[in-house]
Amino acid sequence: MLPENARPTTDREPEPGGGTATTRRGLFRWGAVLGGGALATACGTDGAPVVPGAVRERPEEIADPDVALELLREGNARFAGAREQHPARAEERRLRVAEGQHPFAVVLSCSDSRVPPELVFDQGLGDLFVVRTAGQVVAPPVLGSIQYGVEHLHVPLLVVLGHEGCGAVSATLEAVEKGSGPSGTAIDSLVDAIRPSVERAPAGAGGADRLAEAVRLNVADGVAALSADPLLAGAVQAGHLRVVGATYDLHDGEVAFL
Ligand SMILES: [Zn+2]
Repeated sequence: MLPENARPTTDREPEPGGGTATTRRGLFRWGAVLGGGALATACGTDGAPVVPGAVRERPEEIADPDVALELLREGNARFAGAREQHPARAEERRLRVAEGQHPFAVVLSCSDSRVPPELVFDQGLGDLFVVRTAGQVVAPPVLGSIQYGVEHLHVPLLVVLGHEGCGAVSATLEAVEKGSGPSGTAIDSLVDAIRPSVERAPAGAGGADRLAEAVRLNVADGVAALSADPLLAGAVQAGHLRVVGATYDLHDGEVAFL
């Protein structure tokens, strides 16, 4: 009952730097995970059903992008509804992931202190491969980190996460509106990266509305840039990867997937 796009289960050599597991212990088999919520229908490698218990557990490897997305949706619903489970933070989990990581989502998010992906999606150790910069810009080291997550860790889902009231987008918007020149600091690199998105936000909109639209465009442009990368595009084409954009509402804690 493996998902159609499950990766090969053959053993692999350890990755340099200990980035991924040594030897795969075999993919867990799946029941109809989607629609039923949670992972109650996951089965162990021996085919025996896993009885849902107090401690939420997920299969070691998740290869289906849609399953990964559903996990994030469920986690954010718990967070926004103040029903967090704070999964995968116990000593046992820490020791297990020390042997190898199998994150199920790459999250490219803003560095903003109010938008930590592990909290916003109610995930734990080894769940998310997170890359953050102010304004979640797609710079070369960022792309390299994401490629590593997809190519070597076989992460099936890539989320570009912007947020309400983003300071980096707001600062870029201000620079565009005032026509101000470079500051001579490295912050200019952020402004330069975000500027094309901001310039497409309708000038007629009010300040808050224009900022919200600029945030949305910055996310969409991030998704487009990553989707155009040959390595990532190949993974998408093969059904191994899905790339989605999302925005986070600082007030209600909800993530809206675009
Ligand atoms: Zn931000």
